[in-house]
Amino acid sequence: MEENVMTANETRPIDGATVDGPACGCGPLTPEQIRVMRDHGTERPGSSPLNHEKRAGLYRCAACGTPLFRSETKYDSGSGWPSYYDVLPGAVESHTDASYGMVRTEVHCASCKGHLGHVFPDGPRPTGLRYCINGLALDFVPDTP
Ligand SMILES: [Zn+2]
Repeated sequence: MEENVMTANETRPIDGATVDGPACGCGPLTPEQIRVMRDHGTERPGSSPLNHEKRAGLYRCAACGTPLFRSETKYDSGSGWPSYYDVLPGAVESHTDASYGMVRTEVHCASCKGHLGHVFPDGPRPTGLRYCINGLALDFVPDTP
């Protein structure tokens, strides 16, 4: 995979052998999470319990704990994956993904480079964007436990 954006404060590259016990305390990644976040896999549509998550709260990177999305920007896109129309500032990076015969924009965590999903230009106002994210790549933290 080709990375064209690197940051000076990169802390934890995903290389499979070291993707366990993230500092956030959210626990080691499961094999399914590693398949998505390291190998750019895609979870089965409709399989994530986060599709139905309606509570106010924060969605963090499952690998490193970095805050990525807020519940206020989550909406039901009908795609079968958790969808957001905006992202927390600087939380994700993207690059063009031409795999599977489609040109899409892949998004990954800016901190650990873990793959999250894709962003499409068919979202609602005000951004017009649809961040289509694998629930396995997210760790939801409700505002009120
Ligand atoms: Zn991360």
